[in-house]
Amino acid sequence: RPALTVRGVRKTYPGAGAPALDGVDLTLHNGETLAVLGPSGSGKSTLLRAIAGLEPLDGGTIEFGNHDERLAVVFQAPGLFPWLSVRQNIALGGKYRRNRDRFDESRVEELLEILGLTPWANTPVQELSGGQAQRVSVGRALAVRPDVLLLDEPFSALDPATRGDLQLWLRDLATELDLTIFLVTHDVEEALTLGDRIGFFAGPRGFSQQWIPARDGTT
Ligand code: ADP
Ligand code: ADP
Repeated sequence: RPALTVRGVRKTYPGAGAPALDGVDLTLHNGETLAVLGPSGSGKSTLLRAIAGLEPLDGGTIEFGNHDERLAVVFQAPGLFPWLSVRQNIALGGKYRRNRDRFDESRVEELLEILGLTPWANTPVQELSGGQAQRVSVGRALAVRPDVLLLDEPFSALDPATRGDLQLWLRDLATELDLTIFLVTHDVEEALTLGDRIGFFAGPRGFSQQWIPARDGTT
């Protein structure tokens, strides 16, 4: 079964004349990264929030492959607690959610290692660079061992060099941990670097095309 199946999803914001989503279909397979590319205002974020359960829908269905699917979201702004340490911020991802059963303290140490953040474990997040902070955001999301990771313009706020580094870092991480990722971006480079499949989101009707880019798998 696919990790995620979206069928005929419709959404019009209250007071808006035109729908933001008007019959969108989508399948996300286990272990793949689907990069959704499209212009600003085409409805990408609305679709992501709908999948996250943050937007009431006017129609359509969103089905997960796993009955008790775990989702985690990373947004453009890190949304971390600046005065808390890296370790504490990552641990919060596991503690303050209904899916505590998937969390234990050893997971935090494992994540610090995976993320390359062990040397900064006790450092307050406010002392980190933007790129390090966004790695902490990804770590916090992974603390619950999500089945599907939703990323909304995760690196857009970073400078181009850092953004490139984090894209390669995330690509390796996704391969290593066999992550299933739904990525929304308007950055073509990002979509090409990270996507196993790229969907071009053209507007409320959804995808104009979806294809598999030639990615050779080497860095
Ligand atoms: P994208 O992520 O592709 O930039 P969005 O999903 O943010 O697109 O927006 C899709 C459309 O819905 C746009 O026309 C936008 O102005 C509108 N929209 C998004 N969020 C809201 C909201 N909270 N209230 C009203 N309209 C919204
Ligand atoms: P994005 O393209 O990533 O969705 P935006 O700048 O379009 O970012 O939107 C930022 C925030 O403003 C989002 O929370 C979105 O829901 C809200 N928003 C976007 N368009 C509208 C709108 N027309 N009316 C009200 N809120 C909006």
